[in-house]
Amino acid sequence: MTYSEPARTTTRRIPRILVAGLLVIIAAIAAALGYQSLASKSSTAASPVDVLRSEHRGALGEADGVVPDGVTVFDDEIPGVTNLDPALLGALRQAATDAAGDGVEFFVDSGWRSPKYQNQLLRGAVSEYGSEEEAARWVATAETSAHVSGDAVDIGPFDATAWLSEHGADYGLCQIYSNEPWHYELRPEAVDHGCPPMYADPTQDPRMQR
Ligand SMILES: [Zn+2]
Repeated sequence: MTYSEPARTTTRRIPRILVAGLLVIIAAIAAALGYQSLASKSSTAASPVDVLRSEHRGALGEADGVVPDGVTVFDDEIPGVTNLDPALLGALRQAATDAAGDGVEFFVDSGWRSPKYQNQLLRGAVSEYGSEEEAARWVATAETSAHVSGDAVDIGPFDATAWLSEHGADYGLCQIYSNEPWHYELRPEAVDHGCPPMYADPTQDPRMQR
């Protein structure tokens, strides 16, 4: 009893505001842990770009790099495709030609983007994911995005990215981030040496440091 007496006194003295604050922190940690396990399980889910794109379609046009549904790598009118780096586009078309022999078609979910489009995606991601830090795992800034420079393409659907993960290196086409199975860039040396190891997500990529 001599030991429990001071403990009870201490308990009574903890202000309610502290208890409430502690509960908020515990809830936040639980939510973060829940989110992480959810995120790691959903690597094959739709690209955040797919989700965000529909929200911004009204404000942005094809001239900003918005790609309508059903556009393939062979399109020669949509800026999101035609503004891609010619070497990347050439490799994609060569790969898509060979994939067609396997009954697989490459669609462009997103390709080149204007800085305006990229910044809207980033703003959307910050409100979607709740913080700039979390958003940075998925969406780059206009200054750092390989989409804005025309050096990256998001390919769909699943059978196309599955084909690319098996054969892409033969064309210099490499997946760069483990958390983005749809995102491909040109790594010409991959033809001889295979694709470089992937980054877990864009925050691990030195190019994304700002
Ligand atoms: Zn991408």
